[in-house]
Amino acid sequence: MPAETCSICDRALDLHNRHVRFTLPDPVVDTPANELAAGSWMSHASARESVMMQVPNLGAFVRALLPVALQDGYRVTFGVWVGIHPAELRSVFDAWWRPEYRDLRLTGRLANAIPPWGLLASPVDAEVHDDQHTPYCHRSDDPLLDRVLHDEWPHTLVLDALTGSGRPGCGE
Ligand SMILES: [Zn+2]
Repeated sequence: MPAETCSICDRALDLHNRHVRFTLPDPVVDTPANELAAGSWMSHASARESVMMQVPNLGAFVRALLPVALQDGYRVTFGVWVGIHPAELRSVFDAWWRPEYRDLRLTGRLANAIPPWGLLASPVDAEVHDDQHTPYCHRSDDPLLDRVLHDEWPHTLVLDALTGSGRPGCGE
């Protein structure tokens, strides 16, 4: 049976609710060796599983979810890295696996470019909506990123950008 297609954009409906998870922060991907420097620390065995990392000369990064609403109730959720002040990593780490995780607030800068907008290094705030998920990006002082977080977007704009992004370290 053929997959159901969207009446708005004609794509398969199962392409509309997606999770796109960046393996590494873009500044780490863009280092010449494209690998973690000596002295790096990650919360788990691999970058893909990790929720926090610290990389010499690049800083401290924490995972967050960045939901983008598409018209008609669909949603693409990006699993991004947020660069935080390295001095705050310890308190994030201390709260992460404890009940106080619910009250965790992150203020930092987006460490991945979000297709099609980009927005790498834009300021962003994240908070916990569900203690089984990483924090959610919910607002930004950058007007475009704030719109990305609160507006509804055309299917074609977002889904085309995902198809075209051959960036390493970005998968589902
Ligand atoms: Zn569609």
